[in-house]
Amino acid sequence: MGRDFAYVILGGGVAAGYAALEFAKKGVSHGQLCIISDEPVAPYERPALSKGFLLPEAPARLPGFHTCVGANEERLTPNWYTEHGIELILGTRVISADTKLKTLLTATGETITYKFLIIATGARAVKLEEIGINGSNAENVCYLRDLSDATKLVNMMRMCTGGNAIVIGGGYIGMECAASLVMNKINVSMVFPGSYCMGRLFTPRIASYYEEFYKSKGVSFIKGTSLSSLVFNSEGKVTGANLKDGRYLHADMVVVGIGARPNTNLFEGQLAFENGGIKVNNRFQSSNTSIYAVGDIASFPIKLFNDTRRVEHVDAARKTAKHAVHAIMEPKTISDFDYLPFFYSRAFSLSWQFYGDNVGEVVHFGDFSGTKFGAYWVNNGRLVGCFLEGGGDEDYVAIAKVVRLKPVVLDLGELERKGVDFVVAVSQKLAVSPPSLPLKKSVYLWYAASGFVVGASVAAFAYWHV
Ligand SMILES: Cc1cc2nc3c(=O)[nH]c(=O)nc-3n(C[C@H](O)[C@H](O)[C@H](O)COP(=O)(O)OP(=O)(O)OC[C@H]3O[C@@H](n4cnc5c(N)ncnc54)[C@H](O)[C@@H]3O)c2cc1C
Repeated sequence: MGRDFAYVILGGGVAAGYAALEFAKKGVSHGQLCIISDEPVAPYERPALSKGFLLPEAPARLPGFHTCVGANEERLTPNWYTEHGIELILGTRVISADTKLKTLLTATGETITYKFLIIATGARAVKLEEIGINGSNAENVCYLRDLSDATKLVNMMRMCTGGNAIVIGGGYIGMECAASLVMNKINVSMVFPGSYCMGRLFTPRIASYYEEFYKSKGVSFIKGTSLSSLVFNSEGKVTGANLKDGRYLHADMVVVGIGARPNTNLFEGQLAFENGGIKVNNRFQSSNTSIYAVGDIASFPIKLFNDTRRVEHVDAARKTAKHAVHAIMEPKTISDFDYLPFFYSRAFSLSWQFYGDNVGEVVHFGDFSGTKFGAYWVNNGRLVGCFLEGGGDEDYVAIAKVVRLKPVVLDLGELERKGVDFVVAVSQKLAVSPPSLPLKKSVYLWYAASGFVVGASVAAFAYWHV
């Protein structure tokens, strides 16, 4: 049994949805493209699962958050795929790939042949068993990667109202889930080994703001230790957790957010790898010229930092997918991908965005006892990153524009004093007098790219639930 397609997207997540829209825009013919996904639904905006989907009142549900609502583009319902002649092969896992024969074998025994393949298999949640602890299959232990995880989590939250939850992990998933649990009237203890939350991005000072805010909502932080084992009742339900520091915590439910791993195993030994992902060039082409890789699994060149990275964030999934399709469909008109890393999160009434790189010296700014504050990162004398909580659209657009230029900064005190107004003022000057920007004594703008045009990466945050 087999079918042939000119273009196959393997994976049905964020990148797949944005790739499909781009294929449609570029005029793919009916019957040429298929998406194969082991999920039972058409591509959707995954970030909604830890935000709008978990709200106690008026939660987001499909079809409300199918891609590409997160970027204010068309919302691609299953009907949209039918209308565009794009085949959705859902609930179907690909179990092996042969890059020489250009075939994929599905768990249902079908062989699918492609001319061009886009790998968009994303990442999976790391399981407790991978850190030597049993219990993933217990009915009250939850992960959060896909719709079925989110549905289980919602059901558990409903059953545990007024009870206790342990959140294992202090990263994105842990922080967003802890907020949702509280909003669903569940007492939360967060357990993680670091000395502060979101250790890969936050500074201790930024983390302390969020921890205090969470504490004010009733969340307890148990830091510097980790889970040793889960305790079960006779029905196999978790009733508590032993921690490595000897403490015991009672639990009605557990949420595990201990990281993610890229889904790349189908291609190991067949394609070149880097940073744990599939190595691609600036057109997202892998070491095999018929195969492209996008989203969480792609290790791609970041021109701005002269580096190659894998970025597990939704903005990168959206943009890498679009770029790869452009490269496939119109190779003569494509320019090199020039990405400015952008991450965001929202929980409770808080909302932050980060642009660039968090390396070098940190300069905090703003009102850490209020609602608007942030930090700049200055590396080798250049502004390379900016974090802002509580900003407005104008602030974030300015940050994206200015960080992309990597201006040379001579006076760190000026960054601290002016805060976000610093980048806003610089971006306004850029807009008014692009060719001969007046250089302030303390600040020189260094043009990273030739010419003046700055492609500000405008945040995709218009939808409340995405
Ligand atoms: C709960 C949650 C909240 C998030 N919130 C944010 C946020 O606020 N901000 C942010 O920047 N990022 C966020 N992210 C990260 C963001 O969602 C990911 O970076 C993005 O989804 C990556 O897109 P992708 O298409 O590469 O992978 P995915 O969206 O994960 O899609 C991969 C798809 O491939 C399928 N698949 C994998 N292997 C196979 C196979 N062998 N056969 C068939 N199908 C397969 C998977 O089932 C899935 O459908 C969040 C992630 C999660 C899980």
